Amino acid sequence: MGKPRVEVDQDLCVGSATCVELAKGAFKLNDEDKAEVDDPTAVSMEDLKEAEAQCPVDAILVEEDSDG
Ligand code: SF4
Repeated sequence: MGKPRVEVDQDLCVGSATCVELAKGAFKLNDEDKAEVDDPTAVSMEDLKEAEAQCPVDAILVEEDSDG
């Protein structure tokens, strides 16, 4: 299993911080209250997928990068 590829679409993000709570360390809010990818390896793929699933605006993309 490769490392995860994680992206946040900041145009969609509404700063709910759901991802920050569900995957602590993987995401952080920046000065504009938009989520940024911090360290995706800080949490399990399961937690990343949960954050992806729970984002209210589907701004998160999580993929397993098997080539990684
Ligand atoms: S859960 Fe979605 S909307 Fe909320 S901060 Fe994270 S990326 Fe933004």
